[in-house]
Amino acid sequence: MAESKKNKNRCSFCGRTEDEVGFLITGMNGYICDSCVTQAYEITQEALSGVKKGDTTKLNLKELPKPLEIKNFLDQYVIGQDDAKRFLSVSVYNHYKRLLQKNEGDDVEIEKSNIIMVGSTGTGKTLLARTIAKLLRVPFTIVDATVLTEAGYVGEDIESILTRLLQVADYNVPEAEQGIVFIDEIDKIARKGDNPSITRDVSGEGVQQGLLKLLEGSVVNVPPQGGRKHPDQKMIPVNTKNILFICGGAFDGIEKKIAQRLNTHVVGYGAVRNTAVIDKDNMMQYIAPQDLKSFGLIPEIIGRLPVLTYLNPLDRTALRAILTEPKNSIIKQYIKLFEMDHVKLTFEDTVLEYIVDKAIEYKLGARGLRSIVETIMMDIMFEIPTDHKETFMVTLDYAQRQLEKANMARLQSV
Ligand code: ADP
Repeated sequence: MAESKKNKNRCSFCGRTEDEVGFLITGMNGYICDSCVTQAYEITQEALSGVKKGDTTKLNLKELPKPLEIKNFLDQYVIGQDDAKRFLSVSVYNHYKRLLQKNEGDDVEIEKSNIIMVGSTGTGKTLLARTIAKLLRVPFTIVDATVLTEAGYVGEDIESILTRLLQVADYNVPEAEQGIVFIDEIDKIARKGDNPSITRDVSGEGVQQGLLKLLEGSVVNVPPQGGRKHPDQKMIPVNTKNILFICGGAFDGIEKKIAQRLNTHVVGYGAVRNTAVIDKDNMMQYIAPQDLKSFGLIPEIIGRLPVLTYLNPLDRTALRAILTEPKNSIIKQYIKLFEMDHVKLTFEDTVLEYIVDKAIEYKLGARGLRSIVETIMMDIMFEIPTDHKETFMVTLDYAQRQLEKANMARLQSV
């Protein structure tokens, strides 16, 4: 056995035999295996581009997109939400500046400004985060706060937030240390009441305390594979000082807290004048840090998220715009799908209005638009590739019939 292994061809770089690798390429005086070729390619690419990973010198303020440019880019994909877009654009730009300053040894140290975005579900928080990621020059990841629990309980340890960032940065620690993390559903780790609990609050305050450590900037030990830490696992120390955290959450019911606060403030002089200007349909715009506290975030966390911004609820006009205006709008995506089968797809204007009506009726918001369009288009998408039609127009009558048919089917299956 040992003899036969000895006679086998080996990779001249890593020494593995041909059985142990994908394949071997034969050269004049030796061999190279597939994984050594891949590695050699990566090294060459890095050398040719002159960029060393984790090196901030690749950031050049002149070339970086300015806040206005970032916002213009976001405008192409996200409808409305101007305030949130401006806050995000400025924060990302400042993040770059801080990274650049790190190299200069300046006296005036720029501190980071983590962000918190509050807005009902389906108003575009995650979409904003995903869109901004497209033009970022630093590692970026989105994590969900719902899976987090205090160490020692079922769920993921807080440090696992950084595992994803490490993975995106190819486990290059200096590069990950200047990345951006979007923590979705931050409201789910709010403690359940306004009073500090006397019993253990596994998913609430304990997690917030853990998160605080990350937001503040400290060296944390990150499990390379995520999930829960276990004793034998080798941890990777990551300094979070320069990592920008963007948090997002729906904070269901926070409008009530805002209203309560506003009401208590408008008692007395000026009450009439103040209440007159309050836009009751969009209370979110009046959000203040103390509302987050009433909701159950601990003051230390709020203090570490100094930039507070909000997203507006989507009204009729916004929903209608979402259907057709973004660069990759739902309707554009269907037109593209049909184009690939050489079919020109069109929609009657009344159909688009009808889709919006239904999304509002079902209280599904922007998320519902896609499922409604999908239901309307399912049959025709099944038929068209074999139908050899050149055009297809979705009429109001067709759309209504398809949706009713689907609803009937759902009713019958109940
Ligand atoms: P959230 O994170 O606020 O719950 P998402 O960003 O996941 O909501 O939005 C869900 C979907 O709804 C998105 O994928 C997008 O198709 C659509 N959508 C929501 N808000 C907007 C918006 N302002 N502009 C364009 N599309 C939007």
